[in-house]
Amino acid sequence: TAAAILRRQRVRESAARTYARSFPIVPVRASGMTVEGADGRRYLDCLSGAGTLALGHNHPVVLAAIRRTLDSGAPLHLLDLATAEKDDFTTALLESLPAPFAKGARVHFCGPAGTDAVEAALKLMQTATGRRGALAFTGAYHGMTAGALAVTGNVAVKQPLPSGGEVTRLPYPYAYRCPFGVGGEAGERLAAVYTERLLDDPAGGVLPPAAMIVEVVQGEGGAVPAPDAWLREQRRITAERGIPLIVDEVQTGVGRTGAMWAVEHSGIVPDAMVLSKAIGGSLPLAVVVYREEYDSWQPGAHTGTFRGNTLAMAAGAATLRHVAADGLVARAEQVGHRLLTELTALKGRLPVIGDVRGRGLMLGVELVDPTGVADAVGSYPPDPALAVRVREACLARGLIVELGGRHDAVLRLLPPLTITDEQAGAVLERLAEAIAAAGS
Ligand code: PMP
Repeated sequence: TAAAILRRQRVRESAARTYARSFPIVPVRASGMTVEGADGRRYLDCLSGAGTLALGHNHPVVLAAIRRTLDSGAPLHLLDLATAEKDDFTTALLESLPAPFAKGARVHFCGPAGTDAVEAALKLMQTATGRRGALAFTGAYHGMTAGALAVTGNVAVKQPLPSGGEVTRLPYPYAYRCPFGVGGEAGERLAAVYTERLLDDPAGGVLPPAAMIVEVVQGEGGAVPAPDAWLREQRRITAERGIPLIVDEVQTGVGRTGAMWAVEHSGIVPDAMVLSKAIGGSLPLAVVVYREEYDSWQPGAHTGTFRGNTLAMAAGAATLRHVAADGLVARAEQVGHRLLTELTALKGRLPVIGDVRGRGLMLGVELVDPTGVADAVGSYPPDPALAVRVREACLARGLIVELGGRHDAVLRLLPPLTITDEQAGAVLERLAEAIAAAGS
């Protein structure tokens, strides 16, 4: 039974390896946005493998690409030999990227996870510039290996850079809890000015860094979108000072934010992009794509046994093409807009909702204690305990949502781009009920 499986798993998987969360579900089948548990209950999945499943679970286009590859007799593992699948994936990827960035860009396959691509990008830029440090942002999340941890904002996990370089953390333009205490656009402008002043201050303590790494919308940080103007400023400031800009699109990529790639919103051209999650069409795949001028590695400088997997390349190429061809990017923007509008209306009715934000289908609902003391910007204390209760109330209503944000008080919505209007309606209804029930 499901209960027995859950019990066995808890015993067999050491506590050290489990996630902090636990969902009392044993999924046996999944299709699109729906996950079916062993108990026969069906859930709408607003987690989508932390944004991995752009096309939802088991999309026919993805399954067909995997089956075709399996049936073709193509070698499934070949280290770095050229294959038709790799060529096809790389072509699909470069075609999907903004032209000014893709032109002449190099694609480097990394270990299977997003964090591997982050390591590769940081190391590449250290090689290219001969510098060691990095600029990163408060609230950032880039992965769990050593270099990625060094640029992650969370003090519970962060570590020094393995290169010995220093990481300078800059304020991310998180308007609801504005680092400058003024909120809104004024706060965002200040955040941009801060970067420039700090770098230009000879007593600011910042050595010329090897790179700046940034998320266009912070995912784990609580679905916080950076304003386009702010991002353009970071690009200008880094370009003027010869600092390579790495954009981490592990979570924002493949249509998630209502653009194929989130950098398209601002039109900035980064020096490197770190990609994983959805690019593998639900199988593990990660790459760093970088501009030709940073091609500083000698052959063998960054290798690994599992650099790219044939099945993931086939599933990924099919996903990239289907997202582009099926109008799903526009769809993400349209459904995202509806969700954002209706959640904002809900905020007006439920005072425990402090903030509603996001871009496309990467949305966050920050839960607060409205009886607490508001800060200078009018934001109330975060309420992580309420967030846990809401997540449980959602599950009881057949809705899977995950928590995130600085204080684990943000409900994060990452539905597949294939979400129907009816499913979006059901998400809103169940979420509203769950918040009302848990918050009263
Ligand atoms: N960067 C970002 C922006 C992410 O959201 C994540 C994962 N949530 C990572 C990097 C790390 O990816 P992985 O978990 O595959 O190592």
